[in-house]
Amino acid sequence: MSRALLVVDLQNDFYEDGALPVPEASRINARVNGLLESGDYKVIVASQDWHPENHKSFAVNQGKDPYTPFNNGKGIGPLLWPVHCQQGTPGAEFHREIKTEYFNYIIRKGTDPEVDSYSAFRENNGTDLGLAALLKGLDITEVDVCGLALDYCVRFSALDDVRAGFKTRLILTATRGVGATPNDIDDALKEMKEAGILIIE
Ligand SMILES: [Zn+2]
Repeated sequence: MSRALLVVDLQNDFYEDGALPVPEASRINARVNGLLESGDYKVIVASQDWHPENHKSFAVNQGKDPYTPFNNGKGIGPLLWPVHCQQGTPGAEFHREIKTEYFNYIIRKGTDPEVDSYSAFRENNGTDLGLAALLKGLDITEVDVCGLALDYCVRFSALDDVRAGFKTRLILTATRGVGATPNDIDDALKEMKEAGILIIE
């Protein structure tokens, strides 16, 4: 068996009652748990958005409104966000329904106040987070990706996964999008398909 599961950012702040809510997020929990319990994966990796309070992706730290388009060319943008997933806060914890005991590894990202990190593989300025090397070291050749949010962290993680040479599948029933701007979700699916990612139920 050479397949891994990458579970992206299943944290309280990305659920319906959270600071950066993804519509219908809680509807994926049963499906995600089914994947976690399936026995189909050699390795299960979870990513966890993990920001310091002075993080520059927070709109308040730029004196702007949340969801404002913003790009400083150095790893912040294309959007600014509400304060979310602050280190050590309840909003940064994994959702209580998720069977986290199946996680073999947790990759924390977004810890540098100057740089956002949508992908679990690298920060938005390109800094490698080590996940591709970890998976290759464990003889993984195929990766299934799920989690939150489809149009940001799942999208960027899946794209980096396929670029790193893994056969990549997006589990559509185990992800939901933010839809911060109208075409985000459709654009994300189109970009992933064109990159060679298989989109399955
Ligand atoms: Zn974040």
